[in-house]
Amino acid sequence: MHKDLREVLLTAEQLDAGVKALGARISADYAGRTVTLVGVLKGCLLFMSDLAKSVTLDTRMDFMMLSSYSGQHSTGVVRILLDLKESIEDCDVIVVEDIVDSGLTMEYMLQNLKTRRPRSVEICTLLDKPSRRRAQVPIKYTGFQIPDKFVVGYGLDYNGIYRNLPYIGVLSEAAIEGNKTCR
Ligand code: 5GP
Repeated sequence: MHKDLREVLLTAEQLDAGVKALGARISADYAGRTVTLVGVLKGCLLFMSDLAKSVTLDTRMDFMMLSSYSGQHSTGVVRILLDLKESIEDCDVIVVEDIVDSGLTMEYMLQNLKTRRPRSVEICTLLDKPSRRRAQVPIKYTGFQIPDKFVVGYGLDYNGIYRNLPYIGVLSEAAIEGNKTCR
């Protein structure tokens, strides 16, 4: 375990099994169709890569980057930093997100993507932290429900660090206060 973590919440093996199960469900639900996975950068990176490998359908991949977080806290205001490259009109879209917390990011995503007239839009999140929900968004695919703890690893960061950890863990208070940077 990384020395900045207090505990490991989900091991690499648990993540692998959970992501494969999601891929199998998506493959069955959309059988015979082409799905468009829309990843929300940067948190989706490792999850999207593993999920896509578990989906046995023709699959398109595109990305958006949104901003609403600063450190551990959501600012509540969502802005698009990077938009989709391709049209999603008449496509079966699945939004691939690392974690749904307040739900404000996904509420914004759904509203925004629906204006582009896709055939369908669903949400697939690796983690769900339901205790802090402010916007009730319909989540079709959830990997794991987790308690109200700030987690890092497997794509999730704290000030840009820890995304490469192959498991998900809870940061120690010392690491939060230490506030590491690139130096
Ligand atoms: P929401 O809009 O649902 O409050 O937040 C969604 C975004 O907040 C996620 O995509 C993620 O970037 C960030 N976030 C929420 N909870 C956590 C957490 O426990 N750890 C990390 N690293 N990011 C989180």
